[in-house]
Amino acid sequence: MEVELKEVLNDLESLKQSLADTSHSAPIDKLKLRVERLANLGNYGPVRRSKVKDMSAEVVDSNPYSRLMALQRMGIVENYESIREFSVAIVGIGGVGSVAAEMLTRCGIGRLLLYDYDKVELANMNRLFFRPEQVGMTKTDAAVQTLSDINPDVVLESYTLNITTVQGFDTFMSSLKNKSFRPNKEGSGVDLVLSCVDNYEARMAVNQACNELNQTWMESGVSEDAVSGHIQLLIPGETACFACAPPLIVASGVDERTLKREGVCAASLPTTMGVVAGLLVQNTLKYLLKFGQVSPYLGYNSLKDFFPTMEMKPNPQCSNVACLERQKEYLLVKPARDAAAKAKKEAEASAATESPLHIDNEWNISVVDDCELDKVDVQSSDALPEGLTRELPSADEYRTPLAETPISPADDLDDLRKQLEALNSA
Ligand SMILES: [Zn+2]
Repeated sequence: MEVELKEVLNDLESLKQSLADTSHSAPIDKLKLRVERLANLGNYGPVRRSKVKDMSAEVVDSNPYSRLMALQRMGIVENYESIREFSVAIVGIGGVGSVAAEMLTRCGIGRLLLYDYDKVELANMNRLFFRPEQVGMTKTDAAVQTLSDINPDVVLESYTLNITTVQGFDTFMSSLKNKSFRPNKEGSGVDLVLSCVDNYEARMAVNQACNELNQTWMESGVSEDAVSGHIQLLIPGETACFACAPPLIVASGVDERTLKREGVCAASLPTTMGVVAGLLVQNTLKYLLKFGQVSPYLGYNSLKDFFPTMEMKPNPQCSNVACLERQKEYLLVKPARDAAAKAKKEAEASAATESPLHIDNEWNISVVDDCELDKVDVQSSDALPEGLTRELPSADEYRTPLAETPISPADDLDDLRKQLEALNSA
């Protein structure tokens, strides 16, 4: 394009020189000017913004963080700039993970670790984020390309690997442990792991890594029919791990590639994935920046616009050994934590004014306290809130898929042993 325009300019110049009558040179000069302007347009390539040393609250058009820092002025977040200290690992850079990565990048997160083994395909274009010209690139490389343009302040690490393979899992573990970004950080090298994968095995791998590292993580999923989804907070030992509780609405446990080979195609909508990514990153921001209430579980049923919430306690008979260790540790620190939380609540209650906000109540409006979440015990299988169904077997059923005899909840080990013996003799 640039070369062609230069040739046109040269042709116009020769035409001008060849004319005996100089009165025609003015319109030719005008034409040359227009072509030069077109040639200059081609020079406007992608302009990358320079890095910003400190986040500023200054309200000017050139400040990429002015609207985010305004959260402090509005009293929502105490210290927004602390977001630059956090590392978030995103496993699965698909319809949910890529959008979550973009949101965190635009929010100015300190460091993002991106994991995926797949490549960008035209079949991904019904979702957000990836562009047709990125087809054939690995999802992690394409993501780094886009995200580093959007915000060069974010430290991006791209891992093209499959965490369900032995080698992939080892690299995943060591990357989570790496503390070079913030050497004095307690625990692992990341503040949160976000699972945005589409299959059961990968979720179990994230669960295993996080239980071993005592790493808080959030799980997300979208149903195979594309109309519902969920996010879930998992704190090892404190809440149910992925092996403790039968997973709720998640896509099929079958690998996406197998689905394609068999000619079966799971549906996906940019809307549902965008909503789930939004809920996931909102919960992430609340967790990291300490504002609002962090949801332990939040479902989304788009057909009824129904958002169920609940809490899930860990299963003392969980099949994951690391989960049981974390549960023991949690029970030891729980009394002290409960006492501190109670003291804080009482202090807040005594500080709050007792007088009602509005003395007149012309419309007879009453306020219903809805902060009590539905608490579900994972051991009672039929205690799910209305509208929620289990789409996958529990972890234990998954391990012994041939066992057809239903196992009822065992009250003690003797019962369990008897049931196992009965199963083995059958
Ligand atoms: Zn567990």
